Amino acid sequence: MSDEANPFESLQSQIDDAAAYLDIGDDVIERLKHPERVLETNLTIERDDGDLERFKAFRSQFNGDRGPYKGGIRYHPQVSRDEVKALSGWMTYKTAIVDIPLGGGKGGIVIDPDDYSEAELERLTRSFGKELRPLIGEDRDVPAPDVNTGQREMNWIKDTYENLENTTEPGVITGKALDSGGSEGRVEATGRSTVIAAREAFDYLDKDLEGATVAVQGYGNAGWIAAKLIDEMGATVVAASDSSGGIYNPDGFDPVAAKEHKNETGSVVGFEGSEEAVTNDDVLTLDVDLLIPAALENAIDADLAEAVEADVISEAANGPLTPAADEVLEGKDVFVIPDILANAGGVTVSYFEWVQNRQRFYWAEERVNEELEGIIVDAFDALVETYERHDLENPRTAAYVVAIQRVADAFEEAGSWP
Ligand code: GLU
Repeated sequence: MSDEANPFESLQSQIDDAAAYLDIGDDVIERLKHPERVLETNLTIERDDGDLERFKAFRSQFNGDRGPYKGGIRYHPQVSRDEVKALSGWMTYKTAIVDIPLGGGKGGIVIDPDDYSEAELERLTRSFGKELRPLIGEDRDVPAPDVNTGQREMNWIKDTYENLENTTEPGVITGKALDSGGSEGRVEATGRSTVIAAREAFDYLDKDLEGATVAVQGYGNAGWIAAKLIDEMGATVVAASDSSGGIYNPDGFDPVAAKEHKNETGSVVGFEGSEEAVTNDDVLTLDVDLLIPAALENAIDADLAEAVEADVISEAANGPLTPAADEVLEGKDVFVIPDILANAGGVTVSYFEWVQNRQRFYWAEERVNEELEGIIVDAFDALVETYERHDLENPRTAAYVVAIQRVADAFEEAGSWP
């Protein structure tokens, strides 16, 4: 992984690229390049041995013009103020490209959760929930899972909030377990939109998905579900990787069996369906039809982009390409489905969860998946319409043109106050 790009600068350069095609004043664009506010806090909790430890945590509320701030909370040693700001901006344009009535936010705690017990993580999460309480609420800011967080952490934050507020308000957070007010289909949603978007791109490019070869970098929730669903659509998953390394079999392997191997051993490495062990970078540069980066930001820098051989990239991760890599891939005619559309299934089903929580009426999984399908297909069509109308070279710029226009319209229609 390269650390050459500051993700917040990457976000701002993506906005600048799109602004060139928009009839929006520089002053409004300037506003849309910065978060409205960022909470930076220090959480001190007791370790199991009685010692105290301090952790830095953030919540960035980037933009609320289209609705409550929305976005996940990640636990990772690499979390920083700039990373959280960038991720909250990407959420703003993600909710706008899929046209759901939400804004953008993101949070994180600087921690490697593998080094802590479940009880310590619960104390830390509840402590963050207490700090977040004045900022969040179903009409204010609605957090969700992200890297290294899931239903367990969401349930704790919901419980903390509800206890402190003396109420029941499941819509204060999404990505909860089903019995705590979660939605069917939420866990699979990010991987699902990644493959729906890939299918639409193949169709648009007149390429056959049946038998197409696929490499997946990152085998967490988004990556492995994408692998499973694309295999069900008739494509052949030939490579996968996680932080310990990669596996490759030119004839393809069963993505579910690879996941079972990872569950048992902690990694895909050593999976018996693999012909050879490969590195993470090898997985990103294999000669495949579709590449799915599903790990962290900056996975592909300009040097690595020179070696990428995939025809289509569907970004399950947030910010996996540096802007320099994006430019290289544009020059090589690789069709990149941008993160803000490809992985928007997660937040879209979070939106469905929030709607169900507010109505106290829950949908069957079939309905969730059908509604998700419609939203991702419509967003892809909006991207293509703009891509063609402006004769753009990069689908990401098209997505930003659509999304920024929607946010700017909401801002301008509201007028200014005070
Ligand atoms: N963390 C996910 C994302 O980056 C989901 C956010 C949400 O559901 O609010 O899109």
